Amino acid sequence: MTTETPSQPPVVEFRDVCKTWNPGTRRESKALEHLTFRIEDLPGKGEFAAIIGPSGCGKSTALNLLAAFHGTFPPTSGEILARGLPIQGPGKDRGMVFQKYSSFPQLTVLGNVRFGLELNREGLGLSESQIDALAREWIGRVGLRGHEDKYPRQLSGGQQQRVAIARTLILKPRIVLMDEPFSALDEPTRIEMQRLIVDLWAEVQATVLLVTHSIVEAVYLGDRVWIFTPAPGRIGREFTDVPVPIPGQSPMEMQKAPEFLAIVDEIAESFRRIEQGEAS
Ligand code: ADP
Repeated sequence: MTTETPSQPPVVEFRDVCKTWNPGTRRESKALEHLTFRIEDLPGKGEFAAIIGPSGCGKSTALNLLAAFHGTFPPTSGEILARGLPIQGPGKDRGMVFQKYSSFPQLTVLGNVRFGLELNREGLGLSESQIDALAREWIGRVGLRGHEDKYPRQLSGGQQQRVAIARTLILKPRIVLMDEPFSALDEPTRIEMQRLIVDLWAEVQATVLLVTHSIVEAVYLGDRVWIFTPAPGRIGREFTDVPVPIPGQSPMEMQKAPEFLAIVDEIAESFRRIEQGEAS
């Protein structure tokens, strides 16, 4: 007798989502229109969707809707589902890493990384010493051992993003949202962060939606790349056949390979066409 595994609902689904700012006023503007996609729940693995598109095309709006942030949520029309359930509000199944200021300036590195656990202490059933041990473990994982007692202002931009990543991933969100997380960093630091994300991602197996303005970064980190149309944004083109980074392998080496650069060129050309309103 064969037993069929029930098919899981998608991890994330946008159904014809539209977002209009200031509807019915003279300042009315459409940020998103007919945004439809689904990211399947792959067993033992999360998908990594990288989103690029012209500035102001609604990429952050899409992420903020999925995070259900106050001020953006709900969509004007359409439905957003996480694991088959309509999103009602923020939840710890979704974690966000911003370009900057993801951490509390008044808390130390340890305080910041502990924060989410403390907030969810009862639900997680963790003791004080377990919270402390877990936070220190994550601080080590993101390469910040020895910096536990520092405040964010005492850290470099790259180190601050490491804190932001640790405080998000420690909660084991099924969905990780990253909005230009490395844009404010210099190139070597950015490469280091990409390496860190690849290593951690193999471990946490979350589904990631990453907004970036770097096509190289999108191709490197994403296992699918979406190009959004100019506002109102929707997916103008999807690339699924992109190279997959290998944990432990140097990002620089992979990003210099001719076959990698050929895909970057192809996507850059498609981006240019979409931005200019031509067929992709
Ligand atoms: P992207 O991330 O692609 O650069 P955004 O999602 O930030 O674009 O913005 C899309 C459009 O929505 C822009 O025209 C922006 O000015 C507008 N917008 C974003 N947030 C708000 C808001 N809170 N109120 C009004 N308009 C907004």
